[in-house]
Amino acid sequence: MEDLDNRLAARRAQGLYRERQILRSPQGVQVQIGDDRLLAFCSNDYLGLASDPRVIEAFRAGARTHGVGAGASHLLSGHSIAHHALEEELAEFVGAPRALLFSTGYMANLGVVAALADRHGTVLEDKLNHASLIDAARLSRATVRRYPHANLHRLSGLLSEAKRGTRLIASDAVFSMDGDVAPIPELLTLAGRHRAWLLLDDAHGLGVLGPQGRGTLARYGVAVVEPVILMGTLGKALGVFGAFVAGSEALIETLIQQARTYIYTTALPPAVAEALRVSLQLVRAEDERRERLHALIARFRTGARELGLRVVDSTTPIQPVILGDVEAALAASRMLRERGLWVPAIRPPTVPENTARLRITFSARHEPAHVDRLLEALALLPRRP
Ligand SMILES: *Cc1c(COP(=O)(O)O)cnc(C)c1O
Repeated sequence: MEDLDNRLAARRAQGLYRERQILRSPQGVQVQIGDDRLLAFCSNDYLGLASDPRVIEAFRAGARTHGVGAGASHLLSGHSIAHHALEEELAEFVGAPRALLFSTGYMANLGVVAALADRHGTVLEDKLNHASLIDAARLSRATVRRYPHANLHRLSGLLSEAKRGTRLIASDAVFSMDGDVAPIPELLTLAGRHRAWLLLDDAHGLGVLGPQGRGTLARYGVAVVEPVILMGTLGKALGVFGAFVAGSEALIETLIQQARTYIYTTALPPAVAEALRVSLQLVRAEDERRERLHALIARFRTGARELGLRVVDSTTPIQPVILGDVEAALAASRMLRERGLWVPAIRPPTVPENTARLRITFSARHEPAHVDRLLEALALLPRRP
C-alpha cells in the first residue's frame, strides 16, 4: 500500500498525475464543470450528435420497446432485433458484406486480433497506434513488431522477416492524438504482397471523412473485403456508444465463434442500438454537419499558421498543438482554462516523450467565433525561442 502511495507521489512530481473533471451538463460545445461554464474543444463528438434530440428520442423509445438491459451476451439470449438491424445497416453503410457489434472499440480490437493471430503469428503495429491495438497484439501472444509512424519501408522489411504464421498489420486510420491519416492504399498494397490481414481502426474517420461520412476507407475508395478488416467506433462521431467490426462473411463468422471479447460479455442495451440507427441516418443525410466541421478546421489551421504555432499535418477534427515538455502543455491548458476554454494537455505515455501537446478537437456545433476565441487565446502562448 505504501508502494502505491510512493508511485502516485512520483507521478505527481513528474506532472503526469491525471484527474477527472466532473461534467454537470450534457456533452457539447458549451459545458459546465462546477460553477464554470466552458467552451470545450475536447470531445470526440465531432458531429454534435451526442445530445441531438432525435437520437435522444430514439433512445427513450428503444428503452420503452426493448427494456433497459440486454440481459445476456449475444450468443446466449441478448441479441435483439435492434442489434441485428443495426449490424445490417452498418455493413451497408461501410460497404462490407457483414458487420458485428462489440460493446466498445477497445474490446473490438482485442477480440479481432486475438481471434486471428496466435503465438505463431506476427502483428505489425504503427508506433502511434491506439493503446487498444497495442494491447490486442499483446493479448494474442503473437510476436509484436512496431514500425516507426507511417514508415512503409520499415513495415515492408518487418513483413519480409515474418515468414511463419498469420501476419496482421494493425493501424489507426486516423491517428487519435495527431489527427493525420494512415497511408491506406500503400498499406493495402503491402498487405496484398505479403498475404497479411490489414486491420484499420477508423474510430476518428467514421462519420467525418468520405462521402456521407462513410469513413477513411471510403475516402480512398478501399473496399472492406479481404484482406481488409474495418473497426469502427460508435461513441465518437456517431455520438452514442459501442463499436463494430466489418469484413467478409467468413471473418464475421470466425469472430462470432472465437472472439472472446464478443462471446463473454453482455450485449449493448438494445436502446443504444436504436439510438445508433437514428444517429447513422443523420450521419449519412446531413452533409452540412461535415461541411461546417471542415470549414472550422480550415479556419483554425489558417489562424494557427499565422500565429506560428506548431500544428500537425492533419485535415481532421483532431488538431494538436505540440508544445514539447509536460510543464509547457499543462501551463498552456491552465492558461486557456482561465479564459473559459477547455483544451486538455496530452502527456506521455499517451504520446511519445517530448511531444506533450494541446489536443484540440472541433465539433460541427462550434461557431466560427468560437474558433477565433481559441486563436486569440493561443496567441498568448509563450513563443518558442
Ligand atoms: C477511442 C478509440 C478506441 C476505443 O473505442 P471505445 O469505443 O471508446 O472503446 C479505439 N481506437 C481508437 C483509435 C480510438 O480513438
